[in-house]
Amino acid sequence: MKTLTINCSKQYEITIGSGILYKAGRCIAEVLPACKVCIVSDGNVKALYGGDQSAVYQSLLSAGFDVYEYTFTPGEKSKTLETAGGLLDFLADRRFSREDALIALGGGVTGDITGFAAATYMRGIRYIQIPTTLLACVDASIGGKTGVNLPAGKNLAGAFWQPELVLADTDVFATLTEELWQDGLAEMVKAGMIGDPSLLRDLADGDLRTMTGDALTDPILKALTVKAEIVAKDEREAGPRRMLNFGHTAGHAIETCSGYEISHGRAVAAGMLIESAAAESKGWASKGNAELLGNLLTKLGFDVDGLLAQADSIGAAALADAAKGDKKAHGQTIILAYPMRPGLCQMHDLQVDLLEDFFRSGL
Ligand code: NAD
Repeated sequence: MKTLTINCSKQYEITIGSGILYKAGRCIAEVLPACKVCIVSDGNVKALYGGDQSAVYQSLLSAGFDVYEYTFTPGEKSKTLETAGGLLDFLADRRFSREDALIALGGGVTGDITGFAAATYMRGIRYIQIPTTLLACVDASIGGKTGVNLPAGKNLAGAFWQPELVLADTDVFATLTEELWQDGLAEMVKAGMIGDPSLLRDLADGDLRTMTGDALTDPILKALTVKAEIVAKDEREAGPRRMLNFGHTAGHAIETCSGYEISHGRAVAAGMLIESAAAESKGWASKGNAELLGNLLTKLGFDVDGLLAQADSIGAAALADAAKGDKKAHGQTIILAYPMRPGLCQMHDLQVDLLEDFFRSGL
């Protein structure tokens, strides 16, 4: 078991390793007094790791918590105000107070909805993240960005609200499909491109999926460290945190335009390819990063040509239109992040009118 401390407006720990679900109650009791807790999960995760006979539920009962469960339909299409509102009503109907807490048991969708409900219920209650996808473990569960999608675009309603604790049990990765696993790898590649080239080598050199112990947790910790260091400098995304958006301007546009049929991780993989190729073609970065990314993603099992063909079929104009509604747009400009070389990202203020041309040059 390893831990990493996140230092921002709140200091909290992420604990990662095998068998953590069984210790969840004890770990949570160290940061929360006995209170009501509501485990939030989608139907798939509830069937695998939730329910009143599950390790998490039973360990919370043993640690003295009064345990409730809230379940919603799996998938990005559930990341809405309606789902969050349903959760808020559930808490109010059961008389949850400001002393009580939520537990996000699931992927990034669950974490984002739960964090958003925690940020808004009674103007803010505590919550714990227990990520069950690789993507949520390496990225979404830390940093305090919470939120839901609006019909106009991704994550348009949300709050910065940090968890009390993150408990990441690597055993849950065993039930991830190959596609879900790759979605997490995409965010690890992003972390490596932004801040740690050694992580890219780790990913290229071995199949993480077959690994256990430190061989698995060390690369995950590298990805988390890249994010933790950036969040410590800029919790509210006024500066360097925008680097974490590498691949996400095109990526969010791809997700939105596909009606969320293309997963977040795949959209980010395509977005990184498009944004780095476009930055190279504009002469902002020297050539080579897009090729390196393409080779690494191919090695990790991504169908790079297929992803780019899907983005191409959406078209640069539709992607640009969707990206103009993105939170990353400020007035007439949008801030793009792109790699100068592995481990070093740069930012560029682009006129939104030039987005279509930018995407076209990257496709
Ligand atoms: P997700 O939560 O929808 O999970 C994907 C699927 O995996 C779901 O069907 C879920 O039921 C299933 N699943 C979860 N754990 C499983 C397990 N252990 N075994 C088998 N199936 C399992 O999506 P995601 O890919 O985890 O996360 C994507 C979301 O995260 C997007 O909404 C994205 O915007 C968000 N995100 C947020 C941040 C942030 O900083 N807040 C960062 C990155 C991504």
